[in-house]
Amino acid sequence: MRILVVEDELKLAHALKDGLQGEQHQVTLARTGEEGFYLVETQPFELVLLDVMLPGRGGIEILKSMRQHGMKTPVLMLTARDTIEDRVLGLDSGADDYLVKPFAFPELVARVRALSRRGAVDTSSRLRVADLEMDVVGRLAMRNGHSLDLTPREFDLLEYLVRHQGHVVSREMLARDVWKEPGRHTPLDNVIDVHVARLRGKVDEKFEKKLVQTVRGVGFIVREDRP
Ligand code: CA
Repeated sequence: MRILVVEDELKLAHALKDGLQGEQHQVTLARTGEEGFYLVETQPFELVLLDVMLPGRGGIEILKSMRQHGMKTPVLMLTARDTIEDRVLGLDSGADDYLVKPFAFPELVARVRALSRRGAVDTSSRLRVADLEMDVVGRLAMRNGHSLDLTPREFDLLEYLVRHQGHVVSREMLARDVWKEPGRHTPLDNVIDVHVARLRGKVDEKFEKKLVQTVRGVGFIVREDRP
């Protein structure tokens, strides 16, 4: 999993990074609230470990604005204080789980595993974004009531993007999860780009609202275009 760790205590941050990398995760560190906020807005992560007490923008504030922006990435809060009020505030603000420092690393790993199993992804069979609707069981995609003529690969690609709506999806994620070729993401980049371009033609060409968007240098995102 791609994990963002937002933690200002250097020693703990590096211990978390080393430990999680040892569990085969890709870890990015942020030392301040501002940096963490910038990274979650611009890069795809599957989990965020978020310290509550950060210099500048605090963890709760970051979490609230993530949820206000519709980002469903699971967030595990790390805090030095264990009071009922803190716990409730964190969970009310949209945290998925809560860990009190100091914690044992195996405990963190267990929580991370539980969150990765749960995932941020909606597994329901009917998906919707703006006027685009997908029936995953019947393999139907419609925009504004008109059915879209998609190839099986295009359907899978669109389903993946829609399930991650509001989040940036990288080519690496598409290679791994749609093409099922985790080791080959670089040679696949062109293939992915061609498929996305074709999909965009079918989904967006005739409509004013563009749903499939490119995030330069990062990947793609499906979201309702806000003016
Ligand atoms: Ca701190």
